[in-house]
Formats: sequence, structure tokens, C-alpha cells
Amino acid sequence: MKKLFNSLRFRFTVCFLLIGILPVILLHVIVVNTYESSLINKRMIEIRQRCNMISASLGENQSIQKSLTKEMADVLNWYSDAYGGRLLVVDNQYKVVHDSFLADLGKTVVSDAVFSAFLGKEYQSFQSETKFLEYVIPVTYNGGTEKTVTSVLVFSSTTDWIQESLSRVKQAMSLIEVILFIVMSVVAIYISYLITRPVKAVAYEVEKLRAGHLDHDISNIRSYKEIDDIMEATSQVIDNYRMMEESQEQFVSNVSHELRTPMTSIRVLSDSLIGQKNVPEEMYQEFLSDISVEIDRESRIIEDLLSMSRLAHAEDSMNVSTVSINDMVLNILKTLKPIAEKRDIELVYESFRAVSADVDEIKLNQAFSNLIENAIKYDRDSGMVKVSLDADHEYFYFRVSDNGVGIPEEALPHIFDRFYRVDKARSRETGGTGLGLSITKQIILLHFGVIKAESKVDEGTTFTVRIPLKHVEETGGRKKS
Ligand code: ADP
Repeated sequence: MKKLFNSLRFRFTVCFLLIGILPVILLHVIVVNTYESSLINKRMIEIRQRCNMISASLGENQSIQKSLTKEMADVLNWYSDAYGGRLLVVDNQYKVVHDSFLADLGKTVVSDAVFSAFLGKEYQSFQSETKFLEYVIPVTYNGGTEKTVTSVLVFSSTTDWIQESLSRVKQAMSLIEVILFIVMSVVAIYISYLITRPVKAVAYEVEKLRAGHLDHDISNIRSYKEIDDIMEATSQVIDNYRMMEESQEQFVSNVSHELRTPMTSIRVLSDSLIGQKNVPEEMYQEFLSDISVEIDRESRIIEDLLSMSRLAHAEDSMNVSTVSINDMVLNILKTLKPIAEKRDIELVYESFRAVSADVDEIKLNQAFSNLIENAIKYDRDSGMVKVSLDADHEYFYFRVSDNGVGIPEEALPHIFDRFYRVDKARSRETGGTGLGLSITKQIILLHFGVIKAESKVDEGTTFTVRIPLKHVEETGGRKKS
């Protein structure tokens, strides 16, 4: 039931009905009131004319008793009958000298209307509650120079006949109103149906999506502008979702491939050992150390994957503290020095100022280590890797340059993609997983920083990182510190 009341169609129907019915009710009230007051006015005018005529006849004599002949009394009774009312004549002693109902004959009348009529004023009234109509006029004798009020004429009547005719009009109007109401209901329901039909169609299409048919195309659904906007936004959300799904599928297939490669090598190596008889010890040693290398590679891939997955939800688990970046870089260089020395690569560190920043030390250490390790890995033998650190009032800048193989221009946009390697064989040789730069970028983004790479083939590569000195979390477009 609540669902029905909340439905757009129901609300439209009610609105249309109200819009249609309110004027009809207003019209009903206006027509009934106008009709009633026009009937009463008409009757008042008639009564006044008759009463004036009677008053003129009664005023012919100075004495009212004299004027009230038997014929006159008949005329008065006839008038009161004809207008469905009662006629009283009250003499100047306030005594009723004529009553068409005979009931109050001889009684004294004390009323404001009669008093003021003796002073020459007419009085007329219609009581809307009792529907009672009254007209009081003086009977004036015009003898000589002086006018004297000899008596007062009081006419009173109910307006039953007006009410009867009014109720007939009301009945007729009610019938028309009921017919109008039925017609309007049908029209209102139909118009609401027409208006809400496109919305229903859209709801039907969206329901299909909800049921899991994400390949269902909703871009060609045309409705009202507002709904078109919603559909467009929904369509975009679905496209993004599909893309995400695709990239996830791609990722899973890449992961399987990457994990399978060392496994395949291990299998080949172990099978060839198993398949041979009297294998010399050196060969065992050689194959087993190759197997060990492959196991290392497998572990590195798994470690990188785990670290990527941890980073994907790391916004809330950033362990931020104020860290001396100079010390951090020096430590990394110290750790990597032996690898560089193996290939006679010179590590140069250039620090322009002491830099302290709010960072997650462990994560940033991993990112910077990746960059310096890559620079060593992809540098030429006896080359040079230059690391520099600088800062302004807002950011610090970390730069790693090498003069190694470089990265082709077309490959530069992809180096931060997961599992992307420019030279697969070389990366394999150096024990790369293809995930290092992707992890590095994720870490830099967690620090609200940016990373960019510039490179020239056979000349070298430079990675520049810019990170804010103060760690501020962005919440809904606003930053909070
Ligand atoms: P990998 O584990 O293969 O090094 P990365 O994600 O760290 O994976 O790097 C992706 C690819 O970018 C590498 O395979 C390499 O081809 C290229 N690359 C990264 N750093 C450098 C560099 N300093 N010089 C040249 N190529 C680089």
C-alpha cells in the first residue's frame, strides 16, 4: 500500500484530480450562494412593492381602525397567503390590530424594528441561519401638512420554497459533479500513465541491469531530459565497471602467466634431472641453483602482489610521521651500494637542504628503493646513478637519474602499468617482476605526490617525484590536516 502511495503515478493522479476538483467545488459554492441571494433579493423587492402598496392603502385614513375594513383584511390575508408569509398590522399603541395568522391579535409588540418604523424608518432582514425573512414599514397618513405614522406593517416569512428550489439546483449540480469527477479520474489516471510511462520503461531497463545483464545497452533509451542525464551517468558507471572488470580479468591472466613462468622453469629443470641417470654432481648443483633462482623469482612476485594488494586499501592505514628524508635516502644508498659496486656503478648523492616531511617511512622507503634499484639495474656497467633531494616551502623533490639503456618514447606511458616491462628478457635477467614501478606510483599517490619519468634511449632515464611536506588527507574535495 505504501508502495502505491509513494508511486509517481499515484501522486500525479492525485495532483491532477485536485487541480480538476478544486475549481468545481469553488464553482459549486459560488453558484449556490449567488443563486440563493438572487432569489432572496428578488423576493425582497416583490414584498417591498406589495407592502408599500398596502401601506399606501392603509394610510388613507388617519385612524388605522378605519382603514382596516373587512375587504382590506381580506386583501391582507390574500397577500400573506400568496407570499407564504404572515402580515401583522401594529397600531400606534403597539397593539396587533391585524394578524393573518390571528394568533397574536390584540397582543403588544415590542421590537426595535417596530419602534424605528414608528419613527419613519423601514427595516428589512434575512437571517441566513434560520432562513427567515422580515420586512417592517411604517403606514403614513398624509393628511394636510403633517405626516403621521398611524401604524406599522410587519411582514415575515420563511424561505422554504427558496431552499427547495436551491436543493433542486444542488442536486442537479451534484449529478454533474459526480459525472465530472468520474471523467476527471479517468483522464487523470490516463495522463499520469502517459507521463510516467517513460519512467517505467527506464525502471524496466535498469531492472535488467540489476538482474546482472550488464551488457544490456541503455545508452539509446530516450526519455525526459532529467532521466536522460541519469541514464547517461548510469551508462558511464557501467562502462567504468566493465572496464574495471576487464582490467581485473587481464590482471588475473597476467598474474597466472607470471606465476606460471618460474614454475614451468622449475618443472623443466627438475624433470631433466629426474629423466637422466647417473647425473654428475656439478649438474645437480647447477640445476638446483637455477631452481633456487626461480623460487626466488616466484617469491618476489608473490611479495610484490601482496604489497600491491595491501597498498590498494592503504589510505586508512598510512603510518605518517615526520621523517628526515635525507637520512632515509642515505640509508637506501648504503643498502644498495654493494649491488652498484658489483657493476662498478658510481652512486652520487646531492642534497640541497635538510628535508623533513610527514610520510609513511616504510612505504616511501620501498618506493625510493625501487627507483634507485631500477636505476642501477638498467644502468650500463661502470655508469653513474645520481640521486638528488631538494625542497621548497610546500613540497620536496626526489630525483634519480642514470645513464643507462633508457626507455623508448612509446613505452614511457606504460612503465607504471602492472607487469609492464620494456625488455622482458633483461627484466627477467635482473630478477624484475614488472610490478616495481606500479607499486612505487601507488605509494607516491598515497602521499598525494606525483611521479614522472623522462628518458632517452641509450642516454639514460630520470625519475622525478614531488611530495607535499605536510601530509593532508583529502575528504570530498576538501583537505583536512
Ligand atoms: P621491473 O621489475 O621489470 O624492473 P618495474 O615496474 O620496476 O619492473 O619497471 C617496469 C619497466 O620499466 C622495466 O621492466 C624497465 O623496462 C623499465 N624501467 C624502469 N626503470 C628504468 C630505468 N631506470 N631505466 C630504464 N628502464 C627502466
